[in-house]
Amino acid sequence: MKLKKSSKREKKSEGYKTCPRCKHQIKEVEVKIQDAESPVKSYQCSKCGYFDFEDSSIKNAIDEIKNKEMALKMSHKIVKLSKDRLGMYFNKHIINSLDLKAGEEIEISVPDKKHIVLKLS
Ligand SMILES: [Zn+2]
Repeated sequence: MKLKKSSKREKKSEGYKTCPRCKHQIKEVEVKIQDAESPVKSYQCSKCGYFDFEDSSIKNAIDEIKNKEMALKMSHKIVKLSKDRLGMYFNKHIINSLDLKAGEEIEISVPDKKHIVLKLS
């Protein structure tokens, strides 16, 4: 392979092809980020362990996650389960995004009179 000296510098601006730390050749790897649908392009150096995300694809993934959070704000009705017991159903959007299963234990706390916080263990 022939390397033209003049084009070597230009290559840097279109993305790292070499590791910014150790100048070792960098690998482009698509990774899945939790909650984001599209894979995110990342740059990984096998020599020094350098890891970075490609700017536009990580922004894209963050937007996707944000959109999901908006969609997950929804109203639910408190239902009567039995005498003296009230309950709430999780709809399928919540179940799918949190991967909830029947029988799972969750931690419940009431930080103030407007919030009920459920924490998955
Ligand atoms: Zn490196």
